Amino acid sequence: MKVAKFGGSSVANATQIKKVADIIKSDQERKFIVVSAPGKRSSDDFKMTDMLINMGNAYINDEPYEEYYSLVIERFKEIIDELELSSSLMMEIEKSIKSTLAMDVSNDTKMDSIKAIGENNNAKIIGAYLSEIGLSARYINPKEAGIIVSDEPGNAQILPDSLAKMYNLREEDGILVIPGFFGYSEEGTLVTFSRGGSDITGSIVAAGVQASLYENFTDVNSVYTVNPTIVENPKEITELTYKEMRELSYAGFSVFHDEALIPAIRAKVPVCIKNTNNPEAKGTLILAEREINDRCVSGIASDNGFCSLYVSKYLMNREIGFGRKLLNILEDEDISFEHAPSGIDDISVIIKESNLTPEKEELIIQRINDELHPDTVSLQRGIAIIMVVGEGLVNTIGVAQQAVSAFSSANINIDMINQGSSEVSMMFGIQETEIEKAIQSLYRAFFE
Ligand code: ASP
Repeated sequence: MKVAKFGGSSVANATQIKKVADIIKSDQERKFIVVSAPGKRSSDDFKMTDMLINMGNAYINDEPYEEYYSLVIERFKEIIDELELSSSLMMEIEKSIKSTLAMDVSNDTKMDSIKAIGENNNAKIIGAYLSEIGLSARYINPKEAGIIVSDEPGNAQILPDSLAKMYNLREEDGILVIPGFFGYSEEGTLVTFSRGGSDITGSIVAAGVQASLYENFTDVNSVYTVNPTIVENPKEITELTYKEMRELSYAGFSVFHDEALIPAIRAKVPVCIKNTNNPEAKGTLILAEREINDRCVSGIASDNGFCSLYVSKYLMNREIGFGRKLLNILEDEDISFEHAPSGIDDISVIIKESNLTPEKEELIIQRINDELHPDTVSLQRGIAIIMVVGEGLVNTIGVAQQAVSAFSSANINIDMINQGSSEVSMMFGIQETEIEKAIQSLYRAFFE
């Protein structure tokens, strides 16, 4: 039994939904279908969820919300009409949106219920359409499906017990169409996951029902070896391990929502990224383990917006507790750190720039000076991280040398290298302005 999740662009209008139906029809193992809200139909279009958030904010703040409301209704109406579904479904949807707005609950809960309108009604529409074309399919609400989550509006977490109970869904007849992006608290309140969270639902359902495969349908043929906006037509990745995917998505590969894969990974369900607009393409398969081929690097990712806090002190290595005290200062100031490459007398702590306001920066440097008495402390902003990722790295000689030569032939200075704990990646820190040149040069070195 497979779980197939269709993202926003795959279910953005009637034409896309018909493609989805063909995909479902073509494989009887596709039993659990998770859907997003209608996404963008073109690059200048709106995402239904964004419109719902605008509508919710306006409604809650007593501002005019009618324009947003009409856009939401028009979008559903267009889909229903083009799929030639009964107008009573549209009436039902409109009634439920009105009653969601009128709910007498806290603003947070109301906002979550409004945000979920897109997924919930799209699942109803798709369920109805699949039945209409003769499949045995029905919409199932996440409460009935057993998606029970913590009561944290906009950031729900699945409760571990609910996964085991979801296994019973396998016994249900026919195809089940489940709206993504939300679950219910133990008290029965609707709570959404973080943005992009339909991927989380897909992964939870895949884990719960112990699917043989979790297919994630989007609008790309596969995951690419590097960002296709930096290198034209880069090679596709056919197989990745979970660990490789995590390292790549950490540094800017945005195919997946960060936490989304966790339930599927824990349950060891293989994940396949596929294209709704080209379902014949093989896609990228993400597995717990894979055979290492002769290409040791699987992908190269990059992300900017980092800064490096550099601290040096003569004989630092002999000073017991230095690292702890330094990290404690960050903890006290509520700042998480990304990496901390260190030398004998130096340590750099890499932090996301968005976590460090100029006021915090001043405070931290002051505290380090007062409490740790270093020789130097400085902060450098505008750093980009580049990750060269591949399970084959550990056993291949000369990868670092190849990467370093790629930087040097592009005339790029490396600020930091870290190949410490992770066995599957090598990390480089460079100036943000050099990202494109660096990626292009690394791509030439490893893939051409
Ligand atoms: N519709 C939700 C969002 O835009 C969830 C999703 O599409 O995955 O965040």
